[in-house]
Amino acid sequence: MHFQWYPGHMTKAKRMMQENIKLIDLVIELTDARVPVSSRNPDIDELGKNKARLILLNKADLAEEKWNDAWMEYFQGQGFSCVKVNSKKGGGMKSIHAVIQEACKEKIERDRKRGILNRPVRAMVVGIPNVGKSTFINSLAGKACAKTGNKPGVTKGKQWIRLNKNVELLDTPGILWPKFEDQSVGMKLAFIGSIKDEILQRTELAAEFVKFMQQNYPGVLAEKYSVEEDGDAYGILEGIARSRHCLVRGSELDMEKASTLLLDDFRDGRLGRLTLEYPDQI
Ligand code: GDP
Repeated sequence: MHFQWYPGHMTKAKRMMQENIKLIDLVIELTDARVPVSSRNPDIDELGKNKARLILLNKADLAEEKWNDAWMEYFQGQGFSCVKVNSKKGGGMKSIHAVIQEACKEKIERDRKRGILNRPVRAMVVGIPNVGKSTFINSLAGKACAKTGNKPGVTKGKQWIRLNKNVELLDTPGILWPKFEDQSVGMKLAFIGSIKDEILQRTELAAEFVKFMQQNYPGVLAEKYSVEEDGDAYGILEGIARSRHCLVRGSELDMEKASTLLLDDFRDGRLGRLTLEYPDQI
């Protein structure tokens, strides 16, 4: 399977990022808790050097709790602040403000020594497409969405959302481009739906997903779809098509439809909380 990313998007996203990152103290990097490493782009380490860093395991509700905790420990061990969140439901949001202050304590201390008091921390949300950046910003900003910047006389300024007296957030997230030189990374990003399905062979992707499940979560597919799970991946997909009545012209198995059904069930959490990569593999 081959994945493509468009250099046009990439250069534009990178240019925006380089411009905006100059304005901020803190990079809030969203990752997908199901694939915390594959959903990162390590270029952010270079772009965000000298900035305070906070990594969020977003969509934590879709990943296994024990692995969320293991990943938190992993990132903290690398010197990042790290919080698991569910931006959609607002889970984990309360602890974020304290963590932001903690992540920025060197900057706050530096300000204090220079006699600058109470200058808000300026932050920016970054992450690859579909990781939940907009949802997170909306959830964090909530109704206290008082905007600063673009005041009369400050035209063409950036839009800042004042979260509280200590923190201002850039209202547009920075888009990082996914990094999938490694096929297994591309595959996992395709599983979670971060790469447009149109450019992929749906059934091939679903078959790969079946293989992953056989290896890492044996029994889940059998239980969910009442299928025999020992056979080859396409056989299992056929079983899913049969048990879910995915048929073309009333009789032929519709493998495309079964593949979509399986992938959507996974993406929406209907197969339970699943984690696709683990710290001990890194
Ligand atoms: P962006 O492209 O990074 O801005 O991503 P969006 O904010 O548009 O979110 C992409 C999809 O993920 C949307 O369907 C959101 O509802 C969903 N989403 C975002 N955060 C979470 C979360 O914490 N949990 C779950 N289950 N879904 C989420």
